Amino acid sequence: MKYCGCAEYCAASPLPTAPAIEPNMPERFPASLQQKIEDRLRYYEDLGIRLFYTDRGPGVAGLASQEAVASAPSPTSVFEETALPKSTPKPTPVKVAPVAAHPPLVVQPAGPSLFEAADKVKDDTLLKIREDLGECTRCKLHKGRNKIVFGDGNPKAQLVFVGEGPGADEDMQGLPFVGRAGKLLTQMIEAMGLQRSDVYICNVVKCRPPENRAPEPDEVSTCSPYLMRQIDSIHPKVIVCLGATAAKTILNTTRGISQFRGEWLEWRGHKLMATYHPAYLLRNPPAKADVWKDLQKVMAELGLQLRKKSKS
Ligand code: URA
Repeated sequence: MKYCGCAEYCAASPLPTAPAIEPNMPERFPASLQQKIEDRLRYYEDLGIRLFYTDRGPGVAGLASQEAVASAPSPTSVFEETALPKSTPKPTPVKVAPVAAHPPLVVQPAGPSLFEAADKVKDDTLLKIREDLGECTRCKLHKGRNKIVFGDGNPKAQLVFVGEGPGADEDMQGLPFVGRAGKLLTQMIEAMGLQRSDVYICNVVKCRPPENRAPEPDEVSTCSPYLMRQIDSIHPKVIVCLGATAAKTILNTTRGISQFRGEWLEWRGHKLMATYHPAYLLRNPPAKADVWKDLQKVMAELGLQLRKKSKS
């Protein structure tokens, strides 16, 4: 099953982490390994990444904050699978005080991935990244795709949502989250008082995996550098990872999403919140309550507040 975000799925399909680079590396590698490293570095150079450093400090610092949800309205009434009633007054963003707490680490990364250690591409733009991606054939997913689903939304968004990979509808349209799960995501965004055009939406892999299976490790490692560049170029205040694949890829962790879902984490200077994937919510509607709590925290961080319903 795809798009699950649940603990069972996480346990069943852990993503690999890039091999940690040992401090005491041998001076010479076997020729085959040397060749692989050279190929890999050439590949990163193709992506425009040339500088690497070995900062072994913790890449993911956790920040937990529970206060923001205290007075949240009922989540299930906020985003139902069916379209929100048009008569529902649209929440209007209103400035609120930012969340202040800076609680302790909650996720330890398995080790810095090659990409985490990579220097950012100078003056990168979404256009440049899209051009670099081109009509990509770097992994096997290209064979079955109809359209590349690069991403969509505001290139200067304060909020970026990251999903797993395109499904059938996305593959046909070339746009992320336009199917059934996408409609639910749109409702979630609107329940936050935003429009899709206010945020940026993208995926870990840009081509549809066959039968909507989860992307495989080689596909994730080939495609995720483009995701990282997208995030870096947008430079959002908050990243919301939708489901385990996005969370594990960005955080470079094998830990199940249920261990850190709903907690504030930090990734490369961005606040990061992992929550359940909308497709999981379609199968498991009670989990909408958890997601709504998570999104309330995101709203507080972004200074968004629900307008109180007027009595009538
Ligand atoms: N699920 C995803 O993870 N991404 C999409 O774009 C659509 C469904």
